Formats: sequence, C-alpha cells, structure tokens
Amino acid sequence: MKLLLDNNIEDLKQICAELGEKQYRAKQLFKWISQGANYGAMSDIPKSFQNKLANEYFDSALKIVRTLTSKDGTQKFLYEFKDGQTVEGVLMKQSYGNTLCVSTQVGCAMKCVFCASGYHGLVRNLTAGEIYGQVIVANSIAKISNIVLMGSGEPLDNYDNTLKAISLMTDENGLNLSKRSISLSTCGLPEKIKQLADDEAGVVLSISLHATTDETRQELMPIAKKHTLKELIDATKYYFEKSGRRVVFEYLLIKDVNTNHFDIQRIQKISKQVMCHFNLIMLNSTSTSLLKSLNTREAERFLEKLKPLGVSATIRKSAGSDIEGACGQLRTKFAGRKTNKN
Ligand code: SAH
Repeated sequence: MKLLLDNNIEDLKQICAELGEKQYRAKQLFKWISQGANYGAMSDIPKSFQNKLANEYFDSALKIVRTLTSKDGTQKFLYEFKDGQTVEGVLMKQSYGNTLCVSTQVGCAMKCVFCASGYHGLVRNLTAGEIYGQVIVANSIAKISNIVLMGSGEPLDNYDNTLKAISLMTDENGLNLSKRSISLSTCGLPEKIKQLADDEAGVVLSISLHATTDETRQELMPIAKKHTLKELIDATKYYFEKSGRRVVFEYLLIKDVNTNHFDIQRIQKISKQVMCHFNLIMLNSTSTSLLKSLNTREAERFLEKLKPLGVSATIRKSAGSDIEGACGQLRTKFAGRKTNKN
C-alpha cells in the first residue's frame, strides 16, 4: 500500500489517468487530503473512484498516539506511521499564529552530542507524505500558520522528500502556507544549502552553528569534521545572496564550551560576513550528555554583550517547559514504555 499524501497534483493527475478518471479530480482529491479527509468523506468524488483508490493507497500517513498539553498551551504529539515507527511534533501557540515543529527523519545520522534524536542513529527517511501528513493532522487540531523543520532528522539529508513536502504545504489548492513562514533548520551541509538556494526553495534558512571555531564545533557536531566553518558560512552567504533572505544562526548556550569572551568576538565577526540573526538557545539537558546550559541570567548577560557589537540576536523563548520530552525524549520514553509492557 502506498500513501495518497505522497502525491502532488501532477502525480494525482497521473493516478487519475491510470484509474480511468477525469483530470480535474486531481485537484479535488488534493483538497480533500489536505483537509485530512478520509475515504467516505470526500463528498464530490464518486464512491467507485474512492474504492479504487482505497485498494492501493492509504488516505492518511500517520496518527497521533500520545498528546501532552502544557500550561502555556504548547502541545507535544507522538505520531505513529503505518510501519509503527514514531516521531514527535510540537505545536506552539503564539500571538502571531500557531507554529508546528515538523520531523523529516526517524532518528538522525548526524549524532550531535547534545541531541537525543541521533542517539540511536538514522532509522529511515520520512516520505514527503509523512512529512506533509504531520502538518495536516496538527492543522485539524489548531490552524497552523508557521512551520519549523526542527523536529527529528536532518532535512537536507532527506533533501528530495523535504523539498516535495514543502511544495505540498505551499500548494494553493491545499494549506497554501507561505514559503516565508517555513523555517528549515540544518546542521550545515554546504553543498545542499547551495542546492536549496539554486532550487529557489524560498524558505527561511536556519543554521545550527553552535560554535565559533572548527575545533569546538567538531567536539559538538561530527558533521563539522567533514565541513569547515568557512565552507558553511560561504554556503550561507550564497543562500542569502540568491534568496535575499536573512539567515538565522542557532546558537546553543553551553556552559564552559562556546560562551566565552572570544566566542562573542567571533560571533561579531560572523555577523559582519552575512546578513543574519542569532537565535540563542538554552540547552535542554538529555540523559546522554553532561553538557550544561547557561542559566537565564547568564544567557541575558551573553546577549547584552552582543548587542553593542551590532549583532542582531535574541534568546529563543522556551515553550512547554512543564511537559518534558524535549528534543526526542517523548519518543524515547514511549518506546521504553512499550517494551516494558511486552
Ligand atoms: N537537523 C537539523 C534540525 C533538527 S534539530 C539541525 O541540526 O538543525 C533542531 C534544533 O534543535 C537544532 O538547532 C538543534 O541543534 C537543536 N537541539 C538539538 N538538541 C537540543 C537540545 N538538547 N537542547 C536544545 N536544542 C537542541
């Protein structure tokens, strides 16, 4: 069985042709699946066609098997795909609209030391429909206006499916999200960043920088052994020049690792090389790493030192801190519980 959601309107036209149906059905179908409708509810599509489709295609990609709701309204979901694999999603409610954090892979191959998603390595890529499906399911709970591709996985390591998912999210016949409201976060694959610029993806590019020297970055992120900071910043510049979009550097504030006086100077240097904003992030502790976050006061002091240097920077607001399961931990917990039961 395949997923109907893996198909854009062009693909759906092809399916219509194969099943002997009219081409205009493709748009109707796309509208329905984008609303999360199941077979049986697609009222302007003949039952006979729906039955033919149901023999070959699932009408959904995933279901929510756990939900945690925070006092501040943030919701964390655990989604389960047809093969039983799971990933997490986070729905954040803000005054300017609701933001959904979306995953692109089950697990991750990048193995950053501070991140729970890569702890067991990569399990598999998500298909375009499995990525898009997360947005559809969440959108039926609360209208989603912003997407951050910051869940589990490295989006640029699953390039084609991620790009197709973006085009599904932004299709005017479906959810019609704007490209500018989609942020793609990457650990930094320079060639793929340039390809993203050439493909005119149009999304906001977020780079997980997390260090100002190759040496420190290599300690935190194995990918830095393959690509230097210079290569990464050059690719980021290329993305800015091609897209005209300011890039975002994500920077974890880790005690005694990347937050000294010299880091501040080097952040200033980087900020002069490319139009950018620094998103300073408090580290969520994971069971597998001993790294410690700066506390709130230290983080504010760090920010205050950057400001007079002309660096555009903010501390990322944390949401849902009372519902644990940050950064891959809900999935790990759920997997543990499942095993305990068996
Ligand atoms: N692979 C992509 C996107 C997924 S991670 C990337 O590396 O950017 C999304 C963001 O969460 C990244 O900035 C990542 O560095 C950050 N992150 C991972 N583990 C974290 C932790 N324990 N605490 C805070 N942020 C974390």
